[in-house]
Amino acid sequence: MSQPVHSGYRPTLWERLAAAPHPSVSFESSFWHATAPAGPQTRRLEGEVRGKLAVIGGGYLGFSTALHLAEAGHEVTVLEADEPGFGASGRNTGFAVPNLLTGLDPRDVKATFGDERGTLLCRMLGEGGDLVFELIRRHEIDCEARQTGWMQPLHTPAKAAWLDDRIEQWKALGRPVQRLSRDEAVYETGSDQYHGAFLDPTGGHLNPLGYVRGLAHAAIRHGATVFSDSRARRLERVGDVWRIETEHGVLIADRVLLTTNATGGGLSPAAEGTQFPITLFQVATKPLDPELRKSVLPNDRCSADTRKDLIAFRWTWDNRLVTGGLLANPLGSAERGRTHHIGRLQRLLPQLPPLRVAYAWQGRLAAARDFMPRLMELGPNAWSAIACNGRGMAMTTALGRQVALWLGGGSNEGLPVPVTRPDPVLLPGLASLAFSLWLPMNRWKDAQDLKG
Ligand SMILES: Cc1cc2nc3c(=O)[nH]c(=O)nc-3n(C[C@H](O)[C@H](O)[C@H](O)COP(=O)(O)OP(=O)(O)OC[C@H]3O[C@@H](n4cnc5c(N)ncnc54)[C@H](O)[C@@H]3O)c2cc1C
Repeated sequence: MSQPVHSGYRPTLWERLAAAPHPSVSFESSFWHATAPAGPQTRRLEGEVRGKLAVIGGGYLGFSTALHLAEAGHEVTVLEADEPGFGASGRNTGFAVPNLLTGLDPRDVKATFGDERGTLLCRMLGEGGDLVFELIRRHEIDCEARQTGWMQPLHTPAKAAWLDDRIEQWKALGRPVQRLSRDEAVYETGSDQYHGAFLDPTGGHLNPLGYVRGLAHAAIRHGATVFSDSRARRLERVGDVWRIETEHGVLIADRVLLTTNATGGGLSPAAEGTQFPITLFQVATKPLDPELRKSVLPNDRCSADTRKDLIAFRWTWDNRLVTGGLLANPLGSAERGRTHHIGRLQRLLPQLPPLRVAYAWQGRLAAARDFMPRLMELGPNAWSAIACNGRGMAMTTALGRQVALWLGGGSNEGLPVPVTRPDPVLLPGLASLAFSLWLPMNRWKDAQDLKG
């Protein structure tokens, strides 16, 4: 991940360490950056500007909130440190997943947020895939969108009962999810190593940078003001307004929403202290023979399996496979990231010819300690939202719409997550490190599953 160069940016020690050895896997080195339509022409914040509501952070969450507010006729100003989509939104695998991470089911959500709010949150998330594709159609966003379904194949028969239970929980919420048999899963993925699958036909895949740029275009068309290259360096309450300082200007706003995910750079220590960053590595292969598409993901679905260290893969429009995930040592070499992820895919799909990496990049997401979304009150009329749990595209888009309804005058009772005070993680840097150490243990567990 390339480091933003704006003066005033203060990356945490962990951010510095994790970013240092990977200069070749930046925002610009991604396949999405090479192929997405251009983002909107925006300018830098200069001088003093007055606004009503400031959204700080131009990813899915910031732009979904801004778009829905602007569509409803509200005035909103987005400040982005670099360019729209520079964070995780422009670098992810491009899966629209109406679901949570393995191990987090509707039952867990209700246990965290209570029955009523938990049900609201699951409904919102379940409808998130449809919302993403509906926004793309309505705003004519050019992002290679395919609502062909999201699959979670079983890497071991030992998890079959767990998967059945997961499917029942989502069905009980009225979701059109399906259970694929072993034969169907093998056909749908092209790998004979799978034992069945969860299918949500409302999920799908797209060019993630194209999608976030499209949201930014749409927000601007509906009246939102967007400043790029404008990292908020200081946020302070002056009288009854907020003063947001960038390198070249100041935005004075009545209300502020932070949607900075894992890269806030010290803007709000309280909000940033509630989350820890996780770095993910991505690769796209050289184009493959289009005939292979008949046997690998023949229905053009996207797939992320039930391993703890999951294997995710999908096609692009030009016959490349995209895959990626965690690295046991995020401080290791970029070359290791390339060979590790491509090697796993090759072993899963041994019928493929030798795969060659054409693009490699990495991005960072923020997770709360329970991997659930958060809406935090930072002060009078100032909030921070994080919705990422590694499956954040549908979640952030849908949460942005809910937050817009609330900030546009609705009651916070209707929100799918409560508005709380920040609940800090003890030493986020250490939590990231612990997460890296968690990986080898879970790889070992995945290997045991396969033996068992
Ligand atoms: C490699 C990778 C793969 C992933 N794959 C998937 C996937 O396939 N499907 C899925 O659903 N989710 C996936 N995710 C998660 C998903 O990308 C995130 O949940 C989502 O993009 C988060 O959106 P966001 O708007 O909250 O944050 P971001 O997109 O990170 O946006 C935050 C923005 O804030 C800006 N910013 C930060 N600080 C400041 C400041 N002080 N002033 C102004 N601007 C600031 C940043 O530049 C950035 O643009 C993946 C994540 C990664 C990293």
